[in-house]
Amino acid sequence: MYKIAVFPGDGIGVEVTAQAMKVLRKVEPKTGLRFETEELLAGGASIDQFGVPLTPETLAKAQKADAVFLGAVGGPKWDSLPSDKRPEKGLLGLRKGLNAYANVRPVKMFPQLASRSPIREEIVKGLDFIILRELVSGVYFGSPRGIEKLPDGTERGFNTMSYTTPEIARIARRAFEFARKRRKKVTSVDKANVLDVSQLWRKVVIEVANGFPDVELSHRYVDDCAMQLIRDPKQFDVIVTSNLFGDILSDESAMLTGSIGMLPSASVGDKVAMYEPVHGSAPDIAGKDIANPLATILSVAMMMEHSFDQPKAARAIEAAVEKVLADGYRTADIYAEGTTRVGCVKMGDLVTERIS
Ligand code: NAD
Repeated sequence: MYKIAVFPGDGIGVEVTAQAMKVLRKVEPKTGLRFETEELLAGGASIDQFGVPLTPETLAKAQKADAVFLGAVGGPKWDSLPSDKRPEKGLLGLRKGLNAYANVRPVKMFPQLASRSPIREEIVKGLDFIILRELVSGVYFGSPRGIEKLPDGTERGFNTMSYTTPEIARIARRAFEFARKRRKKVTSVDKANVLDVSQLWRKVVIEVANGFPDVELSHRYVDDCAMQLIRDPKQFDVIVTSNLFGDILSDESAMLTGSIGMLPSASVGDKVAMYEPVHGSAPDIAGKDIANPLATILSVAMMMEHSFDQPKAARAIEAAVEKVLADGYRTADIYAEGTTRVGCVKMGDLVTERIS
């Protein structure tokens, strides 16, 4: 019996998580395991109920679970709150509280969607790489931070981008371990030509690489990497980078695959891992039953593989997603002429039916 802490969150987070849970229940008997799920509140939903985006009691429950599953948090309703009360603080608090320092984002092109990418088909067809983003440090967490009044009456906003040697070494090690199971190439992305913190990043990554002589290491500046992702994304196998750069590059990568609604993610640390789609709560389409639940469903596959050592269940979920796409079903974000447009709930049902 395993415990999964489930945070549907806000906006489409609630809609897509419901589809993922249907898929979980369908694969459960095939794993020989039992999954007990407990729905918990984070983000806007928690602010509405408890006045804060994550309570200590809720975090404690998540820390005691065997895995954490999250839809998405945030929305305009809470946008005017001070930064420490905003929904996103709940998400950051969860990641930090679980010490889930490595965010794994596979960027995989489903062949049926290659023509949907805004980038030419020959550039993205067969695309398959992962972005490993450092998740619990860097400029999102560094101090000092704030907005201060200056003597001349203007203001100054500031944040601190900081990384320690152990923080860099542990994410770098993860990157090399992932690469070993793949095409054995790591690209470390930094801004070492300008930032001191990046110079340390690069030095530590090179030191870690010494322990993985079978893996090829290269370095790219983040601006160059942003360009290469559009020019020739198939050159990448494992990209490892800091919190801020990873945030931006992974959204760019999402667009290569046609829709942000297709990308799952896992945030892993030394203990409990957290699974969530890459996208946010999409307030513009929330409540309309048009969100794409596939990223969230594919996050269940990642959870089966990484937290519960059930690669067969993971493959069954991925195969069901491919089958649905091959059968011509599409949500609005990936719709193309000649395919059948379905809503979020229907897409969840179609995938669930196809799990064999
Ligand atoms: P977003 O990812 O929510 O949406 C960006 C665009 O992609 C929107 O046009 C949206 O309709 C579309 N989109 C996203 N997911 C989709 C899906 N599954 N199917 C179809 N279309 C989809 O990003 P945003 O608009 O920048 O942020 C909206 C809110 O979400 C904000 O409050 C933000 O802070 C929050 N957010 C949360 C997370 C998270 O919980 N992990 C991540 C990013 C943003």
